[in-house]
This record gives sequence, structure tokens and C-alpha cells, in this order.
Amino acid sequence: MNGQQTPMMKQYLEIKAQHQDAFLFFRLGDFYELFLDDAIKAAQELEITLTGRGQGEDRIPMCGVPYHSAEHYIARLIEKGYKIAICEQVEDPKQAKGVVKREVVKMITPGTVMEGNMIQEKENNFLAAVTWFEDGSFGFARADLTTGENMVTLLDGDIDEVVQELSACGAKEVVLGSEWQEQAVLSLKEALPITISFEEASTIPEGYEQLCESLDQKKLSRAFGRLLHYLIRTQKRSLEHLQPVHYYATNAYMKIDLHSKRNLELVETLREKKKQGSLLWVLDQTVTAMGGRLLKQWVERPLLSKMAIEERQEMVQSLIEHYFEREELRDELRHVYDLERLVGKVAYGSVNARELVQLRKSLQRVPAIFALVRKLENDRATSLIKEIDPCEELVDLLERSLLDEPPISVKEGGMINDGYSQELDRYRDASRNGKTWIAQLERQEREETGIKSLKVGYNKVFGYYIEVTRSNLHLIPEGRYERKQTLSNAERFITPELKEKEALILEAEEKIEALEYELFLALREQVKAYTRPLQALAACISTLDVLQGFATVSEKNHYTQPIFSASRTIRIIDGRHPVVEQVIPRGEYVANDVNMHEGRETLLITGPNMAGKSTYMRQLALLAVMAQIGCFVPATEAELPIFDQVFTRIGAADDLASGQSTFMVEMLETKYALAKATQDSLILLDEIGRGTSTYDGMALAQAIIEYIHDEVRAKTLFSTHYHELTALEHELTHLKNVHVSAVEEQGKVVFLHKVVDGQADRSYGIYVAELANLPKQVTERAEEILAQLEGQATALTVREEVKAVKDEAAPTNEPTQLSLFGEEMDHRTENKKKEIRNKNEIQEEHPVLHALKSIDVLNLTPLEAINLLNELQRSLRNEKG
Ligand code: ADP
Ligand code: MG
Repeated sequence: MNGQQTPMMKQYLEIKAQHQDAFLFFRLGDFYELFLDDAIKAAQELEITLTGRGQGEDRIPMCGVPYHSAEHYIARLIEKGYKIAICEQVEDPKQAKGVVKREVVKMITPGTVMEGNMIQEKENNFLAAVTWFEDGSFGFARADLTTGENMVTLLDGDIDEVVQELSACGAKEVVLGSEWQEQAVLSLKEALPITISFEEASTIPEGYEQLCESLDQKKLSRAFGRLLHYLIRTQKRSLEHLQPVHYYATNAYMKIDLHSKRNLELVETLREKKKQGSLLWVLDQTVTAMGGRLLKQWVERPLLSKMAIEERQEMVQSLIEHYFEREELRDELRHVYDLERLVGKVAYGSVNARELVQLRKSLQRVPAIFALVRKLENDRATSLIKEIDPCEELVDLLERSLLDEPPISVKEGGMINDGYSQELDRYRDASRNGKTWIAQLERQEREETGIKSLKVGYNKVFGYYIEVTRSNLHLIPEGRYERKQTLSNAERFITPELKEKEALILEAEEKIEALEYELFLALREQVKAYTRPLQALAACISTLDVLQGFATVSEKNHYTQPIFSASRTIRIIDGRHPVVEQVIPRGEYVANDVNMHEGRETLLITGPNMAGKSTYMRQLALLAVMAQIGCFVPATEAELPIFDQVFTRIGAADDLASGQSTFMVEMLETKYALAKATQDSLILLDEIGRGTSTYDGMALAQAIIEYIHDEVRAKTLFSTHYHELTALEHELTHLKNVHVSAVEEQGKVVFLHKVVDGQADRSYGIYVAELANLPKQVTERAEEILAQLEGQATALTVREEVKAVKDEAAPTNEPTQLSLFGEEMDHRTENKKKEIRNKNEIQEEHPVLHALKSIDVLNLTPLEAINLLNELQRSLRNEKG
């Protein structure tokens, strides 16, 4: 573009310069226009036509969306993670001298959308802000603008922790400061699909101090301050519904990292990302949107406090026992609208009369709900409602003020009740009188003219008229009416008196509309004053809803109340997988016990493919989650420890869904679990080691099991198709073999899905091949090869022999170095190796195993791991050659 900018373009560029990271929707008449790069990108993303403004070289790219349908386009951009600045004309174009004044009136961003199809009823929409302090810790704040909920916490550790926390709350957008280096921002972007925004200010803005009175650390208020500044800057309007910020300690909840959350399908399925098929889907018997959101929060954050869990359990038990009260409670709750978001809209100024009627209808249910809670005669439940204000005066106000079915628009009247305002009543009388007069006019004129088909009607252009069909025109006395409009088979007339009444009616109606709008705004302000009590009420009702949901699902599916052991014992009788049992035909699920205690800290699970290994493992983790959120569990008896963390890892070959199913991911995830798990954690390792070649995989699997067994000591379920590993039972005192049984029935393999002690029959694969009628020659040869392989190193013998090598090689007990593979390889080791090789014809693998065993997996970077693997593989190939 050359220097000949139009004044409007100059204005555009000035505003755009301040909103570089957003699409600028620039209001021009009935359109929002986008220019230059914005236009090119938006045209692509929205599939709309790219046009241009100006001529020749000066022509600049442009595209536009109509003002009245903009919401749809905005939604699509937001869904893709973009931000949008809405720039309006802020003066009347008729009054303007020169270019109409324009300003950005608000920003719409993925973390701050308030309405439309981007907002899920049963999901929060969180915006997060993270402040990185000099000491390496992070202040983490989040807010849901639609509900006004605010939380803040401190995170120690690395960016991983931030990623985990962002994903735990499902934040759509995160606000950072300039202390975040480019590299760190990039790594955040890589880890999560999240919109990133920036805000420097982090002191608590004026007027918001009382929201953070509870914060006793400066760091916390700085994190929250950043969030507030961003909200104020982007929203440019009242944020009065923001609730006082609530501090939460991340270590008050069971930690479920991102991968585990996905693998366990807690809130959505792995492949299709749908709620149906997830644990949340089974558990969600809530009947309000608020309850649905709270349930999701609970599922994502199981508790650690036994007392807090048992409080929930107690209320669930009471609700199970009081069947009729519970059913009535559900009925009442069904009529409660989304109070939290209604309150948000009130404060935000976007609420309409119809929504205020929803608020009224919801509040009218509260007395009955509270009465039902009292009927439970449960102290905990009663104390839940004790301090809660049912907002009766507000109900009264809304009953007096609003009609039952007001329109969506707040500018067309039809909202306010008769008797609420004398002035309004007077205008309404005038309008009604006028209308009665007109209604009478029809009868009167029919009588006087004798025209039975004479009509009095109204249209927007001509106002009130008298209509007479052509065939009756001759009956009208001369000079009685004035002709106004001619239709094909009728004429329309007016009289001076009719026009006079019409003017009165229209004037009254205009006044009514204006006055109703005024009254509505005043009413909205009055409702706003109830923000805090309404929010407390909403929180109380959502809790009740989640608890009744637990009771309902527990009764429906025959769950049992779990008890928590201090002795780290797991004892589950006839446990079932909560989701699988729902999706297979009724009664077909095979219940299984889990027994884990001292001496059975690790269970090694073998069994043929499709036998039910993965299901068995996940079942335990899901039961633990259900227990710790206060729900009952699918089992006839359940005793569990309180787990601090749950880790689920799936061998890469099994994890087809993620699209990045590389062995590296498998190892990285495993590393994370090994590094973070404690004795109180639950680890599920599902066919770890599958993503690489057999010996590599088996060696790694064994090393990992040993490490967990000796160092971490977490409760661990390890499923594997490496039968060789079952020999570990003799070596590792806390490890036990279990297997999933299968039998042959009428020429078919039937999976019993029953988990029993001991190792699986390892010849199943060939057996299945026989059943599939592979040529006899093939299966017989396979048996032969199998026997040969079995004669060779099993995991245990390899372990022993490698140990022998190690003992000889390092008599001083110094840690054995990787130098085994280097030039300096100890001669005695070499000799010993040869000896063993000669004696047993052990393959060349054991030095590799040896090396693997001496690796400190936790202190390897991914790159080192790859190099090491590469080196191991090369050395193997070299030795062979
Ligand atoms: P594996 O991990 O051993 O290959 P899965 O755990 O994936 O096997 O189970 C395969 C299928 O078997 C599941 O999709 C489920 O339909 C069925 N299944 C697993 N466990 C049970 C059970 N206890 N009762 C009934 N069906 C089961
Ligand atoms: Mg499996």
C-alpha cells in the first residue's frame, strides 16, 4: 500500500496495531469487515469469498460477514482457537464529522466466550493464567467467566506440572507474562492444543481486592491479578459475578496425569473423544447442568482425605435408603435451570426477561428441595443447606415483576407484569382502550353499512384500516370513509377518528416499550445484588445433584460402598468394569476379585489376546477413582487404600488412537510414572515393551518391573505377552503371577475372562492357529521352534547369568558402567561371557541386558535413550557379524 491511505484505513490500521493477536472485526454499516492478512486468513478458515478494496496496486484484501449472522462465524474461529476483537461504531454516523469513531468494545477469546454453541452445558469453560516466579515455582489461576468460579494454586517443578494442571481443568486458553521465554511458550503449545495470550500487569486491580482476601501469599495474588487484568482488558464490562477466589492445594487430590486420564477414559473416550463410553457417562445421573459440571470436576479430581470421602459416602448412602425422597428430589431438580450461568449473565448484562423467568422458576423449587433434604434426617445433608439463603425476597420480586412468557428481546415490551408499575399500567390502559374502541368499530360499521364482511385490520405500513371487498363497495355511503389502498379484490379505508385512536395506541405502545426496557434494566440491577447468595445456592444445589446422581447410579447398577484400609490392602470381591459391563449384554460381565497386599504388591498378568487383561487392570483404577470421589463401586465387597496417584501406560502397539504411537512416547510416559509414583500410587502398565523388538522389549519390561518392585513399591498391575517374565515370581518377593483363563469349547477358544493365580498356558497361540486350520506342517513346525526357544534363555536364566557376569566384572560392587560395550570392556567379563556362551549357547543378548539393567532410566534424556538404544543395537549387530 502506498501513502494514499483513506482516513478509514488509517483508523483501521491504528486499531489493528493494538490487536495484533486477534482477528479485528471492523464494523462498517451492516457488516464486520476484515482487511489485509486478517482477511486472507479468515477467508480460508471460514470459507468465505475474499474480495478487495481499492484499485490496482492499492487494492487491499478484504472479506466480510453480515452483522446479524456474525455469531456463527465468530464461533467457528473461536473453536479453532483464535481470538477476535469486536470493533464497533461508537457514534451515530449521521452526527459524525469525517470518519465515524470506532472502538474495540470487547474481545472474544476461547477462554472468555460467554454464549453460543461454544459453551457446553455440562462443562466448564476455563481460562487460566500462569505466573512463573524467579524461584522456579508457578502461580496458577483459573476462572470460568460463565459461572464466576475462580481458583488459584501454586505449582512446583517444571513445565510438565503446568501442562498437567492445564489439562486437568481443560483450560481453553492460558494467559502468560513476558517472564515466559519463547522456548517455554513453544513447549506449552506443543503439549496442549491451547490458545496463548499475554498480560503483564499482575497486581490486583482496584475494586477487586475483596475477591482475594483469603489469599495469604503474594504469589497467589499475583497469579490471580494477571487473570483479572486480562479479563478486564478483554471484556470491558462488569465482572461483578466473579466469585471470591478459592485456593486449592494440588496435593489434596489424587493426581491423574494427562495420559492416564485419557487412557482410563475418565471423561471421554480415547478414540472418538466422546462422553459416551467414558466413566463420566456411566456416572452422570445428574439432572441439572450445574450438577453435570460439578460431577466432571469431581471425576477429574478424586479426593485424598478419607474424612471428606466418607462424608460424601454417608450422604449417598442416605439418598439410596430414601428412594422416594430421592425420586422427588430428582423431579424438583429437573426444573432448576443453570443458576450459575444465569447469575453470570445478570452481572454481565446479557440476561433477558425469559432467563429471569427461568431464574424465578428455579428458585421456586428451592423450598421443596430443602424440605426433601431435611427429610433425609442426615446431619451432613442438613448442614449442606444450613447456611444457604433460598432468596425468597428475590422470588417475590420476580413473581411480581415478570410475565410468564416474555419474549427474548428486551426492547419490545411484553415482559413486565400488570400492577408492577403504575405508569406502565396507565399506558397499557390507554392502549387497551384504544384497541377496544377499534374492536367495537368493526361491529358498529358492519351494522351501519350492512356489509357483513367488513373488517378492521392493521399492518405496519398503513396502520389501522377498514377493509371492504369490491363487491360491497357500492354499499358504502358517500363520504363515509377516505380511500387509502387498493387491493386486487378489496379497498382499504380510514376515517379521521380511526387515525386519531391509532396515534394514541401507537404512542402508548412506544412508551410502553421504552418504559418496560427501563423497568427491566432496573430489575436486572436489583437481581444483581443477589449474586453472592445465588452463587452459594447454585453450589449447594449442584452438590446435591451430584450426590443424588451417585445414589441413583449406585442403586441402579448394584454398587457397594467401599471401605478404606490403612494397611494398603486391596481386596475386591466380584469387581466389575463400570463401563464395559454397561456396553456388553446384561449379565455377561464376568466379575473378578483383586487381592493385593504385602507379598502381592505387583501382579504380572498373562493370558491370550482378548482375554480381558486390559479390562481387568483398568477396572481396578476406575474403582479407585470412583471410591475416592465418594461414589460406590461395582463389586460385592471392596476394600481399598487411598491412592495418591494413578498411572496408566499402554504399550505403543496397543495405543493406535493417539496417532503418535511411537515407542518413544511409551518410554517417556513410563519414565514419568517411574519418576513420580510413590508407595501409595497405583501403576498400570499394559504390555509395556511391545513397541520394540522382542528382546529389547522384554528386557525393558523386566527392568521396569524390577525397578518398581525394588524402588518404587507402588501397587502395580503389569500385563504382558512375554511369558518369560512369569519366572520373575521366583525372584521378586512381592510379585505374583495371575492369568486370564480361556478354554476350548466345541472347537472354539472361549475366553472365560476369569482372573486366577498362576501363569497362563503359553501354547495358546499355536493352539489357536490349529483351530484356524493352518496346515499341519506349519503348526507342527511352530511347536518345534517353540520348544527350541523354550530351551533357550528365559527371562530368569538371563537375569541370573547376567548377574553372574556383573558379579565377576565388578567385584568391588561399583556400579557397572556402559563401558561393557566400549573398548575398555573388562577382559574377565569378556572371558566369562565366552564361557557362558560356550556352555549354554546363550545368544549374544545378555550383555545388552546387562547394560540395560545398569541404566538409570530416570536420569536419561530422551536423546540419550535413543543413542543408547542405537548403540545397543549396533553392538548386537557387530557381534553377530
Ligand atoms: P486383552 O487386554 O487381554 O487383550 P481386553 O481387556 O481388551 O483383552 O478385553 C477384550 C474384550 O473382552 C473386551 O473388549 C470385553 O468386551 C471383553 N471382556 C474383558 N473382560 C471381560 C469380563 N470380565 N467379562 C466379560 N467380558 C470381558
Ligand atoms: Mg490389552
